[in-house]
Amino acid sequence: MEKLSRFIDCYISTETCNLRCKYCYVTQHNKFNSKLVSFKHTPREIAKALSRERLGGACLLNFCAGGETLLSEDVLPVIRALLEAGHYVMIVTNGTMDKRFEEIASFPPKLRKQVFIKFSFHYLELKRLGWLEKFRDNVWRMKEAGCSFTIEVTPSDDLIPYIDELKNVSQEYFGAFCHITIARDDVAYKINHLSELDFEAYKKTWGVFDSELFKFKSDIFYKTRKEFCYGGEYTLVLNLSSGDLRQCYCGKSLCNIYDEGKIPFRAIGHACGYYHCYNGHVFLPMGAIPKLDTPTYDVLRNKTTLAGEEWLQPEMKEFMRQRVCDNRPRYTTGQKLKSDFCSIDLMMKAVLKFILKRRSLRGEK
Ligand code: SF4
Ligand code: SF4
Repeated sequence: MEKLSRFIDCYISTETCNLRCKYCYVTQHNKFNSKLVSFKHTPREIAKALSRERLGGACLLNFCAGGETLLSEDVLPVIRALLEAGHYVMIVTNGTMDKRFEEIASFPPKLRKQVFIKFSFHYLELKRLGWLEKFRDNVWRMKEAGCSFTIEVTPSDDLIPYIDELKNVSQEYFGAFCHITIARDDVAYKINHLSELDFEAYKKTWGVFDSELFKFKSDIFYKTRKEFCYGGEYTLVLNLSSGDLRQCYCGKSLCNIYDEGKIPFRAIGHACGYYHCYNGHVFLPMGAIPKLDTPTYDVLRNKTTLAGEEWLQPEMKEFMRQRVCDNRPRYTTGQKLKSDFCSIDLMMKAVLKFILKRRSLRGEK
């Protein structure tokens, strides 16, 4: 079995979409600007910059745009090159770009096993457009092609009256209830859940889907992480167009992957600047904080259908079941101190942000 070496969240700088979901973070930031990603580097150059030799082995790479990931025709050639380089790729998509799924289905069978599609099921928007069947057909196209998939719903208050309908459709179309994520208010300091319901009522309302993803996200949401975090060593974030490789969303830039030379991996340590680890459903199961007891990532994505089939194919399931922290060395005390020392400015910034926020909440100047 291929060893999971690192997890990298790759940002695709497309900032537009063919849907208009009310809870969309692109809408919250008024970022719909018709921008489609453009890569200055060829797929071959990108695969060379992210070779297994440079990254220390096979990685799980997540492709997610600031809009619809598969809108640009330039994305799949890059994905294919990275699959050919031996990596495993997750694609976040709204499931409506038929031609792109046809293209993935034409990849060689070996590469298709390395593909995982996270289908975001925007139920009300698909219903409004009459695209529910189109979405279902694309899911089945990918399943028949041997790719792995998951179905994930973003819970919004206007979807609450449709919960029973959504459960029925989900079971009929995909053989199981969909997974549930947590919609977030990216503008708020605490990155709150996006709902009129308080968090307890929110958990109760959406808990009826029996989603392991929702259970774990609910568990870690609003919990400030104080442990030593290996973001920057085990898990990373990358802007695939600019090449900027960072420790985490709140971390430092480590290098530009398109520059030659060794990648200077370095953990962020105790300097996480976020109120909570809002994307911890992937970073934490990957082992970013090794001492945390978490489910493995496959558990948060898989479902077994009424017919006894699984959404994850065996090879992907085995790959996702691993934790990077079990496959890579841990830091010595000295290395940890050095990481924290390099992150000292981030820690000061986080403390200052916290103090200013508290003062502004108290109405002080
Ligand atoms: S599909 Fe995704 S990117 Fe597009 S509007 Fe909906 S939430 Fe936003
Ligand atoms: S705790 Fe989460 S958000 Fe913070 S640095 Fe680590 S992975 Fe990133």
